[in-house]
Amino acid sequence: MDMDEQVIKALEVVIPDAKCPMCGTSLWQVEPGSFQHMRRQGSSVLPSIALVCQTCGNIQMIALEVLLKRAEGK
Ligand SMILES: [Zn+2]
Repeated sequence: MDMDEQVIKALEVVIPDAKCPMCGTSLWQVEPGSFQHMRRQGSSVLPSIALVCQTCGNIQMIALEVLLKRAEGK
């Protein structure tokens, strides 16, 4: 299972009924790959994934580490 498949499975487990906070629909597309938020201080990054609402274009960023831990029941 590659990372994108792992992310989609984790989303189905952790937030199966996620609705867009802007428009209230649940038509999401998971962008392939992960994104990295750079911290203002230091050189570390916060890996995240992006869900794009296909109704209104709102982008939701999810912390990858938290999502995967929750999906594993940790
Ligand atoms: Zn939306």
